[in-house]
Amino acid sequence: MIQSRRFKGLTVGVITALALSSSAFAAEKGDKSKKKEKTVADLIKDKTEYEGFLDFYQDPKTGSLMLVIEESQLNKPFIYHTHTVNGVLDAGHFKGAFRTNRLLEFRKSFDKIEIVSKTPRYILDENNAISRSEGTNISEAILVAASIEAHDKEKGQFVIKADPVLLSESLEKVSPYPRPPIPGQPPRPSFKVGNLSKSKTKYDSIRSYPQNTDVVVEYVFDNKAPMVRGSQAVSDPRTVTVQLQHSFIQLPENDYQPRRDDPRVGYFTQQFDDLSSNSWAPYRDVINRWNLVKKDPDAELSEPVEPIVWWIENTTPVEWRDVIKEAGEAWNIAFEKAGFKNALQVKVQPDDAEWDAGDIRYNVLRWTASPRPPFGGYGPSLPNPLTGEIIAADIMLEYSYFRNRWLYTSLFSDGASSEQMMPDMPVDLYCSAGHQLHDSMLAGLALSDVNDLSLDMKHKLVEQAMSRLILHEIGHTLGLNHNMKASQLFNATDVHDASKTQGIVTGSVMDYPSANIAPPGMTQGDYYDTKPGPYDLWVIEYGYSPALADADAEEKRLQTILSRSTEAALAFGNDAEDMRSPGRHIDPRVMIGDMSNEAVKYAQGRFELIRDAFSKVKENTAKDGNNYQQLLIASNFLIREWGTQAGVVSRYVGGVYTDRAYVGQEGATQPFRPVDAELQKEAVKTLNDYLFAPDVMAAAEPVYAYLQPQRRGFNGFGQNEDPKIHDMVLNNQRRVMAHLLHKDVLKRITDTALYGNEYSLNEYLSDLTSGIFEADLNGEVNTYRQNLQNDYVKKLIMISGASKPSPYDYLSQAAAQYQLKAIDKMIKYNKGEGATRVHREYLHSQIDKAFSGS
Ligand SMILES: [Zn+2]
Repeated sequence: MIQSRRFKGLTVGVITALALSSSAFAAEKGDKSKKKEKTVADLIKDKTEYEGFLDFYQDPKTGSLMLVIEESQLNKPFIYHTHTVNGVLDAGHFKGAFRTNRLLEFRKSFDKIEIVSKTPRYILDENNAISRSEGTNISEAILVAASIEAHDKEKGQFVIKADPVLLSESLEKVSPYPRPPIPGQPPRPSFKVGNLSKSKTKYDSIRSYPQNTDVVVEYVFDNKAPMVRGSQAVSDPRTVTVQLQHSFIQLPENDYQPRRDDPRVGYFTQQFDDLSSNSWAPYRDVINRWNLVKKDPDAELSEPVEPIVWWIENTTPVEWRDVIKEAGEAWNIAFEKAGFKNALQVKVQPDDAEWDAGDIRYNVLRWTASPRPPFGGYGPSLPNPLTGEIIAADIMLEYSYFRNRWLYTSLFSDGASSEQMMPDMPVDLYCSAGHQLHDSMLAGLALSDVNDLSLDMKHKLVEQAMSRLILHEIGHTLGLNHNMKASQLFNATDVHDASKTQGIVTGSVMDYPSANIAPPGMTQGDYYDTKPGPYDLWVIEYGYSPALADADAEEKRLQTILSRSTEAALAFGNDAEDMRSPGRHIDPRVMIGDMSNEAVKYAQGRFELIRDAFSKVKENTAKDGNNYQQLLIASNFLIREWGTQAGVVSRYVGGVYTDRAYVGQEGATQPFRPVDAELQKEAVKTLNDYLFAPDVMAAAEPVYAYLQPQRRGFNGFGQNEDPKIHDMVLNNQRRVMAHLLHKDVLKRITDTALYGNEYSLNEYLSDLTSGIFEADLNGEVNTYRQNLQNDYVKKLIMISGASKPSPYDYLSQAAAQYQLKAIDKMIKYNKGEGATRVHREYLHSQIDKAFSGS
């Protein structure tokens, strides 16, 4: 519907523009009639031809390009897409990164051809007079205005020079945008690529086919005086190379019918605002999906006219190919629900294939081995911006997904979070799927090393992790976004029972769950999903089942599918709701790194597993004749997993379950439902026991003196290599505390009391204070606990507003002050001796100082 209206509008535009511009051109030509002008034929003579959707002609000597544009191509939108063929993370590029995807069109204006970009987001009902105001307050972008070098009136052709268009940043900004400062951190000098070098920038390759034309350009940037060296992947910071592919793609001309989006299913979308609508939600968003059409429309199950074909790149390690093929084709289970058989096929690119994996006509599962892997896998797709029809897709897989351990060698020193260690990434990356999946798998591998699991079990873990990664990335390319709520499928006991899970551990392969490792005393089941889950089957049915011809009947059919959204197995929540960052979002089930619908109980099992692992880690990883590197890395993962699970548990405090069911839908609850007080209390108790307790790291103590990285040249010069144990423990506690005492969380506890929350702010903070102060009140406070108590008191002082104005609400300020007074009283009556007395006197003076204002 959107497409046809848009083309109608454009047709009018074409006629007017042509009528105006041809007369202008004729007038101008008259003035210069004496000078012998070059013809189109002159300009393309003896040039290498690349004819197809766009016709390019290259000078074989200089490499210079001419572009011939047909009159029929003017004022007609086409898709412009770019991706990085190769690059370096320091410059914000990595191999295979999809970048721009937008509509461009050629327009003629006097003696110039313009290349114009316009957002198709805003739509108006053409039957409404207001549609005459189309374009109001919407800025078009004229990216290029190129002089017409020759015009062949008979053939209706124009020639422009392509070099100023393609060997520049006119169409696409290749150099990175400056990074915004990180709040709370002082600005740091960053790596700068400098200026584009005109003399060094050149064409790499040109491919032209009837419906698309690709031009690969090697962009070279020079920076005469770099301030920052950059990583070792940069050979010389004074000059950086990025290969970028420009793809010009014809808009598909077919009878594809867009499918509307719905908040209950998780597809990537094209968003449209209906500016003439009176609806309360004037959205006309459509989902991204492939154009699958039944070969036999009457058959309940039919092959599609054109299946979705994936190619395993011939660079893929041979031993992985079967697992990858099987995982990819496992998606056919979901398509069968939508009425298609063999919808998705996975083939292997022959070793002598003549096509390039960068050719957008092929969907390729590609491999890279990067020095600084930006992901474990990445599955972008290329939709038609007008309809959401997916035209092409690629998947990039990092070989180091299964090898990369070096990244984590320094972690133990201070427990730095993974975010801080991640390299630069373009902000519009659809999926980084990997760091989280990667982490959970490496934690699993570390645990399997520590527990000295059989090779078979280790093999199963790695193979299931690979399947899971492929399922996840292919899921993205089918149009699906993340479903971080999907780990709710089983309870904390059944999830370890392979006879129950049968290869489906979570509701959707689009989640980032924890590796499902059995706690002590339980038998190991499935580590990961090896098939799409119930949610996946359901959303594929929504997105891909053929539409009915009658619009009302079709809407009713979609509503019937959507009415199942209240089933527990179909739970959905994406990144825009997930709770990975402290204080952000509200539903604790929409979380990464969690597992089961009893995440708190599951985490308790994991804490036990980590304790148990620490008792064996040295014996099983530090072997005679080796260094201590494996012990160091395995310990890092145990610590990291400890922090991850504590984070999962903390989200239940002040949490609110969301339900996006529509009014009157069967099985619907109220849209916002506070977490039961009992579970919130259980979460606080779990953190008190496993994160804040005095003996929390007792199991790890025997390994501290052995956590030594392998020396390498002079690397590490100026850094001290001893394990920063107190920082590491405190940083993990702080990250959780950042959520527990976040101003939005505290305020929400008060807000939710008005609609069902029975865990009051004062009761909650008293429970937390008890956990942090009571266990060692009558004895000695060890050094971890001194740190923790100090940190807690300082945070309460900040919240209370005692010394500085507080950003917290009044109730939180009062509650914090009450806790401080209680703590002061506790330590006044229990002064202790030695270091404990020193510590408590310090705490008392801190509280005293805060309230006396001195
Ligand atoms: Zn993903």
